Amino acid sequence: MIKHLIKGGMVIDPSQELLGIYDILIEGDRIKRVEEDIFEPEAEIIDATGLIVAPGFVDLHVHFRDPGQTYKEDILSGSKSAVAGGFTTVVCMPNTEPPIDSPETAEYIRAKANCWGLCNVLPAGTITKGRKGEELADFWALKEAGCVAFTDDGAPVMDSDIMKKALELSAQLGVPIMNHCEDDRVAVGAVNEGEISALIGLSSRPPEAEDVLNARDCVLSYYTGGHVHIQHLTTALGVDIVRHFKDKGARITCEVNPNHLLFTEGELLKSGGNARVNPPLRKEEDREALRRALSDGTIDCIATDHAPHAVFEKGSVEAALPGIIGLQTALPIMLELVSREYLSLIKLVELMSTNPAKVIGVEGGTLKEGSPADVVIFDLKKEWVLNEETNFSKSKNTPLWNRTLTGKVMYTIKGGKVVYKD
Ligand SMILES: [Zn+2]
Repeated sequence: MIKHLIKGGMVIDPSQELLGIYDILIEGDRIKRVEEDIFEPEAEIIDATGLIVAPGFVDLHVHFRDPGQTYKEDILSGSKSAVAGGFTTVVCMPNTEPPIDSPETAEYIRAKANCWGLCNVLPAGTITKGRKGEELADFWALKEAGCVAFTDDGAPVMDSDIMKKALELSAQLGVPIMNHCEDDRVAVGAVNEGEISALIGLSSRPPEAEDVLNARDCVLSYYTGGHVHIQHLTTALGVDIVRHFKDKGARITCEVNPNHLLFTEGELLKSGGNARVNPPLRKEEDREALRRALSDGTIDCIATDHAPHAVFEKGSVEAALPGIIGLQTALPIMLELVSREYLSLIKLVELMSTNPAKVIGVEGGTLKEGSPADVVIFDLKKEWVLNEETNFSKSKNTPLWNRTLTGKVMYTIKGGKVVYKD
């Protein structure tokens, strides 16, 4: 059996409140031991001196565009991008062509991901057939085919009765319902409502478009007992809504996209279409509320919403398709917030690994003995530039293109195999 010994790294594992210099012995695809000074002559040594060692990151929100739009990304390029960013498990959204509303499409994704074996790629099934918001998909069949969540991401479920029924079923199945919260009658434009929409003369997507649906879903979760996971939360009021209903004991979890923690709407003036995303970049007070909620338990997860688009689909703000790639930039963005003291390193690992694994109830997010040997090893200080040479995605739509980033993944290990090395 192949053995790896990770020596001398600063091990951070929130699942067992572990923080200190330890060695980790991996045997086959499992963690064998985590102790000080392990001696194992047969093992291949990975020197982690001066580096952070944590359970592999888990991302609940990626778009791999496969099947159907593989000129933007596919399961292989998406997986390469994931492991270069330290992710060993990702949940891919069902807005593919065809959408993941049938067991066949879910099985296609799992089979293709397993054939490369770089990263666990878990499909999310749709809530409604064809993502049309009219008729529930067959949750049992989709769960059977490996779907770990249900969402119509990008096409918010507007019908409250459908959402209520979806949550009732989710309570029986133990699978979360994830909703992209934006009322599509209110969110009609390209950017946040405010100075920027006025300045560039575009119709807008105001925060209330997001808040009304977030509040509705929290109310429905409260009454049905179903697990709702609010996707890419962006507003200050939204943070209060989630906190309120969590305090009342509703089964609610939520995620935030690193780009909403780093940028405000002003970024549109610098980066144009590459800063366009739904929900949109918002104001300083929204960003500050999100940052402050990272440490108080309101925000459960960081999710990248990695959304590749080709260069010809970006361009001007008005014409651009919404979305930003994010698998390789998530760690540097979050480390920037650690250095500004919005969260600790142990909290970062909790938000990027331990908690997201719990939300979908999969193995991972821990370095406990016997758990899968999914590990990320990163350098807090190393500077690098995201450019043609370092980017693994087929797309490059991010405001961070060609900018210097601090913090770099050095190794990613999935199931005991080194799947990425700097
Ligand atoms: Zn979305």
